Amino acid sequence: MIEDQHERLRGHRIRMTLKRVPQILDDLEPTPKRGGGAGSSEPLLPISETVLEAGSVLRNVLASWARITMEERHVPRPSRDTLPALAAYLTYHSEWLGKHEAGEEAEDEIADAVANLERLTDQPGASVFAGKCPECGGAVYAKEGRNAATCSRKPSDDAEPCGTVIDVALGREQLLTQAVSMFASAADIASILPVKASTVRKWGQRGHIGGYCDVETRAGRWLIGDVMERLNDTMTNAA
Ligand SMILES: [Zn+2]
Repeated sequence: MIEDQHERLRGHRIRMTLKRVPQILDDLEPTPKRGGGAGSSEPLLPISETVLEAGSVLRNVLASWARITMEERHVPRPSRDTLPALAAYLTYHSEWLGKHEAGEEAEDEIADAVANLERLTDQPGASVFAGKCPECGGAVYAKEGRNAATCSRKPSDDAEPCGTVIDVALGREQLLTQAVSMFASAADIASILPVKASTVRKWGQRGHIGGYCDVETRAGRWLIGDVMERLNDTMTNAA
């Protein structure tokens, strides 16, 4: 009896953890209602590679428990492979999952992955590269979801910060316009575009994007414009 209640509570805890997922996603991708609207349909630059990585870890964790549920319970698969869909699916099956022989493992894995992503997105420093300051040339970072950013670069240690205000959308546009005809490593592209380095490499190997192999480092250098175009295609098809 005690055992039974313990397992039921576990199912409940899994459900409560999964309930936090939509809120985290909201913080990750602010919807236009919060911003000024300009360029809101464009993909935002990633907050950071760490956050994207934590998001994909969580998705893998949820997807693997969804697969176990589907196969062992003989129920239909989740409607989609996205975080919200997977979280909703597991919420529906949380009681069963809590009673599963690996229920404790499921609870731990899901709780860890959710907490990790939550911690990273909660960081006040979470920011996007907003472009270069036209006054001093310094790199300016904006808080996620903001339309303007202030250059805080100091010409010297005891000087006043530059203080020039940058339009985030404009700065990003200029950055990307310059970047279109440039080649960069997969890791560097992943730091300025919403794409994983491994995806860029995969596209390169399959010949979907232009690039060359650096003679000295033997590492691939990929045409940023091609990656942007392919990202646009992917998003248009997914929409
Ligand atoms: Zn400046």
